[in-house]
This record gives sequence, C-alpha cells and structure tokens, in this order.
Amino acid sequence: MAWTDIRGHDASRQQLLTAFRRGRLGHAYLFVGPDGVGKRRFAVEFTKAVFCEKPPAEFTPCDQCPACAQVVAGTHPDFTIFSRPEDKQEFVIEVAREVVANLALRPARGRGRVCLIEDADTLNEESANCLLKTLEEPPPGAVLILLATSTDTQLSTILSRCQVVRFQPLVAAELKLVLIDQGITEPADLDRLVRLSGGCVGRALALSDKAVADFRHSLLNQFTTAKPDAFALAKLMNEFVADAGKESKAKRERASVVVGMLLEMLRVALRVAIGGVPDGERVEKEAAKHWAVVGDERVAEAMQACVEADRLIDRRVQLEILLERLADRLCRR
Ligand SMILES: [Zn+2]
Repeated sequence: MAWTDIRGHDASRQQLLTAFRRGRLGHAYLFVGPDGVGKRRFAVEFTKAVFCEKPPAEFTPCDQCPACAQVVAGTHPDFTIFSRPEDKQEFVIEVAREVVANLALRPARGRGRVCLIEDADTLNEESANCLLKTLEEPPPGAVLILLATSTDTQLSTILSRCQVVRFQPLVAAELKLVLIDQGITEPADLDRLVRLSGGCVGRALALSDKAVADFRHSLLNQFTTAKPDAFALAKLMNEFVADAGKESKAKRERASVVVGMLLEMLRVALRVAIGGVPDGERVEKEAAKHWAVVGDERVAEAMQACVEADRLIDRRVQLEILLERLADRLCRR
C-alpha cells in the first residue's frame, strides 16, 4: 500500500504535498467525504509519509521501513486512532481528553505524533471544546486528523481551526480498478457495484459480499408483484440488519445499505414510470414494471420515505420500528 495504490483523490494528495513542500503541513485537518470513500486509508498513507524513515521521494512512504510497517499494523507508538465508543451516540469528552493527552506526549520516535479522530460528525460541544486548545496551540510536531462526512455537521469552533481536505467519490473507472485489485473481475458484478456504491470503495466492497448480494435479490424480489407484503418485507429487512451482529453501529450501517438498495430500485422505477427504459438486472426491471403501474407520484413518495428513514437511522430511533414503518409506506397501494 502506498500513494500509488490509492486511486483517485489526486487533488487531496496534491493539496497536502504542496503544503509539505512549503513547509506548511498543517496541524489539524478535517477530511470530509462520504463514508467508505477512502478517507481513513488516505490518513494512514499521510501518516506513513510523515513518519517514513527512508522516503524514496518527498512526502512519499517507502512501505519498507519499520515506521511504515508499524503505521499499517496499527502499532506505531506515535500514531493513535480514536473512535466514538460503540455504546455511545456521541464522541464523548472522555475520549476527547484522551486525544489531548495523547498528542501532548513526547513522540516516542522523535518525529511528532499523529492522532486520527473517526466519527468527527459526532463530536458534541463539550468534546469539541476540549479539543480547542490543542487545535489552537498544538504541541510541536502534533497532527490531528478528523474524519467527517460533511462540513455541515461540524461545530464552527472546530471548522474554523482545521484545514479542510475534501474527498470526492471515485469515478466509475477508478472504482472499477480498485475493485479489480480486490479480486472482483466479473464485468456484470463490477457494473452493479459501481452503480450501487455511489463511488465509495467501502460501500462497494460491502455490497460485493455474496450474502449481501443474495439479500438484495430477495429484497427487490419483494416488489416483483402487484401487492407487495409489508410484513414479509419488514421481516426480511430486520433479519438482515440483525445479522450484522450486536453492535449498534454495524446494524445502523446495514440499515443504511438496505435503504440505499431501495432507493436505487426506486430510481430505476421512476425512470420507467416516466416512460424511460429500465437498466439493471432482471429483478430490478421486473420490480420497476410493477412500480410503473403504481405511478410516478407514488414512486416519488416512496423515495421520500426512504430518504426520511435514512436520516433517522443515525438517530436514537429503534431500527426495527423504523424499518417496519418504511415497509408499510413502500407497500401501500
Ligand atoms: Zn518508510
């Protein structure tokens, strides 16, 4: 893994390289882009570039030295990743205090420290305030990287103290190359994943799983009839979400994937409903035909229901009830 293995994100890399060349590498970065687009992986490369002991070119990790290996393995003493606790909805102050304390430590290998904050979208006012002093007067050599999905979700106090680096979804050709690297080579699979993943590698890989692909087929199959069964649909969705395990975060991510699948189906359906030609696989076309009978207004309403559900997934609502209600709205005829 090296800069050359990271597809896309050239502008982001150039931005940091330019700063490095000018001796102006920042001490606080906000990496902004959709989930699964590759921000975390990019942050790891960035950290290697900072710590590499034998860079073959400026700001380029060698991928051979102990420092590079330790960053990748997650064992480098000066690189720490902090996340929102599993059982909490917010990035709580206790963890923010750990970040501050960690960055204040003397670097074990003498090249500074890098801390990564995942889920920066969930920083609350208290934890953001805790970080402010560190962001304003960072210890020498300290770099804090925050990963977020949007600048809108950030408190202005954080936003004004960070340099923003934006990560765009990968274009289809780039995403395909990444997936081919990962061993997905079937052209039909590649097309489907590109279409469903919105340019995000993480999402595409999650969707490439056989169980997920099978689920999607069953999900769409629910709509290949004139009268879809809300009860069966809700059961199917809830079982799939429950399969993600005990952790709330994993379940919520799965629920979001389900809603994404529904939205993609409805997008095709809408096109058919207004007289267009359906794309996608047989099951999708079949579902689209039935939606077209119901009419474009109902398709648009169904899309609205999905968008609303997606927004609620990350709140404290009970997923099971949320999906039951969604199933009801989608099956109303
Ligand atoms: Zn190295």
